[in-house]
Amino acid sequence: MSAPFIVAPHRVSCKAVTIEDIDRVLYDAEFMKELIKYPCVGLAHPQINDKDPLQFFITDIQLVINPIVLSHTDALIESDESCVTFPDYSPAVVERWLRIKVQYQTCDNNTLTIHVEELFGTEAIIFQHETDHLNSIYCYDKSLKEYHIIQ
Ligand SMILES: [Zn+2]
Repeated sequence: MSAPFIVAPHRVSCKAVTIEDIDRVLYDAEFMKELIKYPCVGLAHPQINDKDPLQFFITDIQLVINPIVLSHTDALIESDESCVTFPDYSPAVVERWLRIKVQYQTCDNNTLTIHVEELFGTEAIIFQHETDHLNSIYCYDKSLKEYHIIQ
């Protein structure tokens, strides 16, 4: 059974966050922090909003806005991934980039601040999983095992 307020899988595209969206981002992020207490390490806005989702996700430590993977090394890693949108599925086995360079924004004093950094291993996997959500891609779409979900 799904955690409360997690919406069914969908392919509604996410709008980039602008400064006008900050109040809504902060409000929804607070709400999402409560949901992340379910067994998960990240939650993307389209997982709770299938009407007008925005491009941000949260982890247990951070609010990540307008994330982009800028580049990656060639090394891949096989990752066993679960997703709270699919509580009844066994983990997907997904190939992820082991090391990525990313850009994203944070909200500090009601302004958006750009960050560029390199992520490795688990941090890189979480970033890719959650950024995929913002591009209407689920880990089960990329699974090396066979799954059939929504088109
Ligand atoms: Zn997920």
